[in-house]
Amino acid sequence: MHRRVAIIGGGAAAAALLGELLERRPPQPLHLDWYTGGGTLARGVAYGTQSDRHLLNVRAASMSLFAGKPQSFLDFVQREDPSIAGTDFLPRRRYGDYLEAEVARALALGKAHGHDVQIVPFAADAVVPETHGVTVFRGEESHRADAAVLAIGALPPLPLAGVSKEALASGRYVVDPWPLLANPPAEAPRHVMVVGLGLTAADVLLELSARWPETRFTAISRHGQLPEPHLHTTSLPAEDSAQVIEAMLDEPDVRRWLHLLREAVAQEDDWRSVIDSLRPHTQALWAALPLEQRARFQRHVRWAWERTRHRMPPPVHESLAALEREGRLHRQRGQLYRVEVDGDGLRLELHPHDRDASKMQTLHADLVVQSVGMDFDVAHTPHPLMRQLVINRHVLPDPLGLGCQATPQGRLLHDGGTWSRLFAIGSLLRGTLWESTAMPEIRQQARTVVDQLLAK
Ligand SMILES: Cc1cc2nc3c(=O)[nH]c(=O)nc-3n(C[C@H](O)[C@H](O)[C@H](O)COP(=O)(O)OP(=O)(O)OC[C@H]3O[C@@H](n4cnc5c(N)ncnc54)[C@H](O)[C@@H]3O)c2cc1C
Repeated sequence: MHRRVAIIGGGAAAAALLGELLERRPPQPLHLDWYTGGGTLARGVAYGTQSDRHLLNVRAASMSLFAGKPQSFLDFVQREDPSIAGTDFLPRRRYGDYLEAEVARALALGKAHGHDVQIVPFAADAVVPETHGVTVFRGEESHRADAAVLAIGALPPLPLAGVSKEALASGRYVVDPWPLLANPPAEAPRHVMVVGLGLTAADVLLELSARWPETRFTAISRHGQLPEPHLHTTSLPAEDSAQVIEAMLDEPDVRRWLHLLREAVAQEDDWRSVIDSLRPHTQALWAALPLEQRARFQRHVRWAWERTRHRMPPPVHESLAALEREGRLHRQRGQLYRVEVDGDGLRLELHPHDRDASKMQTLHADLVVQSVGMDFDVAHTPHPLMRQLVINRHVLPDPLGLGCQATPQGRLLHDGGTWSRLFAIGSLLRGTLWESTAMPEIRQQARTVVDQLLAK
């Protein structure tokens, strides 16, 4: 059992790990150094929003922080409002309240059981793993632990290729939408361009269109399509999905998988049941795919997977449809090629979907908000800790830019093998597990890592 553990990260994944460790009642007292990064404890980007327009995209019944207590979030919200149903999509702000309450409960429980939890409200600058322990550096200080867990979430977003330095310096190209959403300027721009059409873009469009009622929005993406909506009621998983999954595992080839899935969808009333039936098997399916097939999936299928698997809550879908009907939101297919300053605004050049250069399009906007979702590429990130770990070759970047190489149990890999005392949960495991960013997966990872930390 590892008694002294460093937890690095201050979001929901770290909260899940802390809760799981302190709930277990280990036979000896633990010493936990929790480096939180300094932001609002436990909420992170996703649950730090104060806007009730920002809804969970997972139903309340599936959002527990604990793999062993699936009702925990639902119980929390129903204590205040018994009319809330497990199928509801609640404001993410409420989930943040739940996370804070669970962290406070875990800390009190830890104290009562004689564990020592040191909250360090700063980012860890460097981590040096060795065979028998891990040293964590922060400023002038260093602390040795028996083991460390990285739960740092997604990496800071980088500007897309083609955005000029002048455009970035003008303040009219926003790389990270969340600070803007928290505090949009009172003076509304006339035309806003949103780059991306996933769940982040949906949040951006809902918030800014409400704050700036006279503003017109254009949202661009390669395929010009929004995520699909959830149904108001849950769809039951497809009955004979076992056969489909077996056939997929037998032949790990993306083209074959698409064929099998299309056949399965044709048998169902609603395609969602087929997609949902894959969820418990996604990690096994991803593990079965050879690297070149994973790359093919990334290139050709990822966009379709994301919009069917990561769906919008119905109210979000309805609000965006209303914006389109009112003519305030226009969706456009294309790929951003260049962004330059043009007078008081920005000029954007877009490749059309078929990349025919003769059809290059030019658009103008007063403000451009990059909303392309999470970044996982540790090889090219400015994140200081990940840079240090990569440069010192303590960790290996995933070859497709999806976090770090790791075992499915969350142990990070290095040139010579597997670290026995350096773990990760959440976004850094994207390349290993594929589905690794939502709470239903993260809480399971927290449990798996805690099993290893407390093993005799
Ligand atoms: C807008 C949005 C909406 C989402 N909605 C849902 C949803 O409805 N349901 C769902 O299941 N999932 C949702 N997700 C997925 C989300 O990723 C997870 O639910 C969860 O928030 C991930 O938590 P995390 O702790 O891994 O990452 P984060 O919340 O990003 O937290 C990472 C933390 O680590 C800290 N940190 C970074 N570097 C260091 C360092 N060097 N030292 C110390 N600390 C550091 C950061 O400051 C931050 O506090 C959403 C994601 C986003 C972005």
